[in-house]
Amino acid sequence: MIVGAGIGGLSAHLAFAGVGFEVAHYERRSELGPAGAGIFIWPDGVKVLRTLGLGERLAAIGNRPDFLVMRGPDGRPLSELPLKEIWDRSGAPGYVVSRTNLQDLLLDAVGPGRLQLGMRCIGLDQSDTEVIVHFDGGLEAIGDLAVGADGIHSAVRSVVAPDVEPSYAGIASWVGIVPNDGVQPEDTVVEYLGEGKRFGLLPLSNNRVYFNFAAAWDRGRPRPATGWSGFLERLFAGWPPQVPAVLRRLEGREPIHLEICDLPHLDRWSSVRVALLGDAAHATTPTVGQGACQALEDVDVLVRCLQSDPADVDGALRRYESERKGRAEEIVAFSRRGLERLHARDESIYGETYRAIHASSAPRTAMTIEGWLARGPNG
Ligand SMILES: Cc1cc2nc3c(=O)[nH]c(=O)nc-3n(C[C@H](O)[C@H](O)[C@H](O)COP(=O)(O)OP(=O)(O)OC[C@H]3O[C@@H](n4cnc5c(N)ncnc54)[C@H](O)[C@@H]3O)c2cc1C
Repeated sequence: MIVGAGIGGLSAHLAFAGVGFEVAHYERRSELGPAGAGIFIWPDGVKVLRTLGLGERLAAIGNRPDFLVMRGPDGRPLSELPLKEIWDRSGAPGYVVSRTNLQDLLLDAVGPGRLQLGMRCIGLDQSDTEVIVHFDGGLEAIGDLAVGADGIHSAVRSVVAPDVEPSYAGIASWVGIVPNDGVQPEDTVVEYLGEGKRFGLLPLSNNRVYFNFAAAWDRGRPRPATGWSGFLERLFAGWPPQVPAVLRRLEGREPIHLEICDLPHLDRWSSVRVALLGDAAHATTPTVGQGACQALEDVDVLVRCLQSDPADVDGALRRYESERKGRAEEIVAFSRRGLERLHARDESIYGETYRAIHASSAPRTAMTIEGWLARGPNG
């Protein structure tokens, strides 16, 4: 039984069904409509999607950038990373994709009628031989294993790590997709960094661009009466002309506003017949764009562990945890440290961070990233 139909849950469905497990899948939303803005799937995630037989379809919906450039708000270059060389040496490219396109691709591969929608998990009970998932409205389902792919506010987590609460990272993001029309060359992802703020442009396929603003933010502050676009125009005044160009292209629509959280360390990711994956286990801040890729790595390892010894669920879940937990938690911690430096409220901290990025050598940064990617389950 899988709870949650985000990128992690849908991929898990495909992976389990693909090796012959019988899958029942529950999602609290009553329909799977638009799924947010864009996402960067790095080669570690792409390799998992390829093992699920989705490589060609991913390439068809994604845009494969060749460069990642960081600049100051005045346009001055801080660093330029040759992504194409990383792709060549990693054995797979990375893609920027629309989340809705990726969700549609995964749903299509899962097939019609395979998800039970409008099913909000509210708790679980388990014994040595079975697990029962309880849903809102008094319904329940019984199976051999429950996989909690239900995101950062996971209900399934209550039986594995009951006291763990998401931790607010002190920043907000404002994201969306607008027509590109020359705003950003298709082969280059750009990030503008300055004053503890960040503005990223990630070109998508089909003449679209995914934008991402981020800045320090007091949690719960209300939306300004002028709306987010006016707010961002003021917050990023004097930044490159792409800022007003993107906001203009929204044509009155509002960007999506997200208060960014991650999960502190969990002692366990599983308990007897219940396992967590993706954000339910290791939600991370988006600094290095690895949250969904780590969910995909989880899927790959979890299914392999269970496939190798389906009769010993507890043993398989322990192997899954020991293969995956250290790596995912290292990424959560690394990403949080990066976020705190990039979005510090103290000028001396963010200034030092930009100087370090400027001073770093591109080949060495590329090697570091390749090292991270190579430690994924598919090398
Ligand atoms: C601004 C931002 C940018 C990011 N950029 C990147 C990036 O470039 N690359 C990358 O790899 N990652 C990125 N991430 C992280 C990535 O979005 C997440 O790690 C990933 O989407 C997590 O997928 P998931 O399936 O684990 O969880 P989710 O996507 O949260 O899915 C959980 C699902 O479970 C359902 N659900 C929740 N509760 C219940 C319940 N009680 N019962 C039943 N169903 C339930 C939800 O409706 C949802 O469908 C970014 C995150 C943010 C915030």
